[in-house]
Amino acid sequence: MKVAINGVGIAGPTLAYWLRRAGHEPVLFERAPAFRRGGYLIDFWGLGYDIAERMGILPTLRERGYVMKRMRNVRHDGREEAGMDFAPLYQAQQGRFISIARADLARALVDACVGVPVHFGVSINGIAQHGDGPIVTLSDGRQERFDLVVGADGLHSQVRALAFGPEPRFERFLDCHVAACRVSGYPHRDELMFVSHTVRGRQAARVSLRDGETLVLFICRDEFIGDDPGRHDDPRRALRRAFGGMGWEVPELLDAMENSGDLYFDRVSQIRMPHWSSNRIALVGDAAACPSLLAGEGTGLGMLGAYVLAGELHRAGSDIARALAAYENSLRAFISGKQKGAVYFRGFFAPQTALGLVARNLAVHLFALPLFGRQFWARSLRDRFTLPDYPMD
Ligand SMILES: Cc1cc2nc3c(=O)[nH]c(=O)nc-3n(C[C@H](O)[C@H](O)[C@H](O)COP(=O)(O)OP(=O)(O)OC[C@H]3O[C@@H](n4cnc5c(N)ncnc54)[C@H](O)[C@@H]3O)c2cc1C
Repeated sequence: MKVAINGVGIAGPTLAYWLRRAGHEPVLFERAPAFRRGGYLIDFWGLGYDIAERMGILPTLRERGYVMKRMRNVRHDGREEAGMDFAPLYQAQQGRFISIARADLARALVDACVGVPVHFGVSINGIAQHGDGPIVTLSDGRQERFDLVVGADGLHSQVRALAFGPEPRFERFLDCHVAACRVSGYPHRDELMFVSHTVRGRQAARVSLRDGETLVLFICRDEFIGDDPGRHDDPRRALRRAFGGMGWEVPELLDAMENSGDLYFDRVSQIRMPHWSSNRIALVGDAAACPSLLAGEGTGLGMLGAYVLAGELHRAGSDIARALAAYENSLRAFISGKQKGAVYFRGFFAPQTALGLVARNLAVHLFALPLFGRQFWARSLRDRFTLPDYPMD
C-alpha cells in the first residue's frame, strides 16, 4: 500500500513507522523547510509512552527529556501561594512519565522511520479522487498517485480543508490563547520546576531547560486578546497588551520574549469532526480530533490514532474502507471522552474568576498531599483503552 502522509509532527511519523514496519510504502511530506528544534515542552505518558516503547525509542526520549520535580504557583511578589511535588504523579505512573520538547519527540519518531522518504518544504496542495486511488498535487508541482492520503498536519490541517471543508466548521474554540517561546540566558532559574504566576484569566510561566535556555509560556482568556488587531501580524505586541500590568517576573518574561526567535502563538481549540475519513482520505492526530493542550495528552492520542490506523490498514489488506471504519469505531468514543475531559482543565490554566483562582490553588494544596495526590493522578491519568496488538512485524 502506497500512503502519502502530510505532516512530520507526531502522528505522521508514527503512522509512517508502523506502516513501514508492516511492509507498506509510506511517504512523508512536511511544509517546514527543515526539522525544527526546541519549541514547547510536552508531558508524555500513557498510551503514547507504551507505543514509544514498542517503537524502541524510550531510551532516546529519556535521555532528551526531563523528570520535573515540582510545580510552584507564585504571587506577584514571587512568594509561593500553592505548590506540589511531582513525586506522587511519577509514583502513580510507575515512572512512565516524562516532559520533553515536542520537537525532540518528533525527531525521535522520524529517526525511527528508517527507509521512509521524507520530503521537507513540500505540502500536499490538491487531492483528486480516482477509482484506483487519489492523485495528489504537491506544492512543487509534481503529481503522484497513492492508495491512501492521510492528513497528519495538525490543528490547522490542509488535508482536512481540502477534503472535508473549512476549519471553522470543525473548530471548537476554547476561549483561550497560548504563546510559547524559548529564550537564552534568562537570569532567573529553578531547575526542574514549573513556576507560574496566575491572575484572573491569565497565566505566565517559565521552565528552566538545559544549555541555559528557558521555556516561557503565556496563556490567557480571549477577552484579553480577542479584539487586538495585532494578534495576527504582531502577536508580541498583543501579548504585551494582554499581560501588561501583571507582577512577578512578567515584565522580564515579556522583554525576553521580544528577543526570542520562534514564537508559537495560537488559539486554544479542539477539532470535532463527524468522520475522520472520506473515501481514500483520512485524518489522524490533531487534524482529526485535536484535544488541545489542556488535555496534556495530544501527542499520545495522536500516536495512538496513528498506531491503530496503521494496524487496521494492515489487518484489512486491500479493503481500505473497512480499515478506515474500524480505525474510527475503535477510537472515537475514547478520544471524544478525552476532549470533553480537557475542557474542565481550562480553569486550571486560566481561571475565569477570582473565586476560580482560589479554588485552583486549593486543589493544588490537596494534590500536594502524597496519598491524595497519588490517587488523584492515578485516576485522572488512567487511559481506559487497551492497546491492540497488530501483527505488524
Ligand atoms: C503549548 C502547548 C502545550 C502542549 N502540551 C502538551 C502536553 O503536555 N502533552 C501532550 O501530549 N500534548 C501537548 N500539546 C499538544 C500536542 O503538541 C499536539 O496534540 C501534538 O503535537 C499533535 O500531533 P500531530 O502530529 O497531530 O500535529 P503536530 O504536532 O502539530 O504536527 C503537524 C505537522 O504538520 C506540519 N504541517 C502543517 N501544515 C502542513 C501542510 N500544509 N503541509 C505539510 N505539513 C504541514 C506541521 O509543520 C507539523 O510538523 C501541547 C500543545 C501546545 C500548543
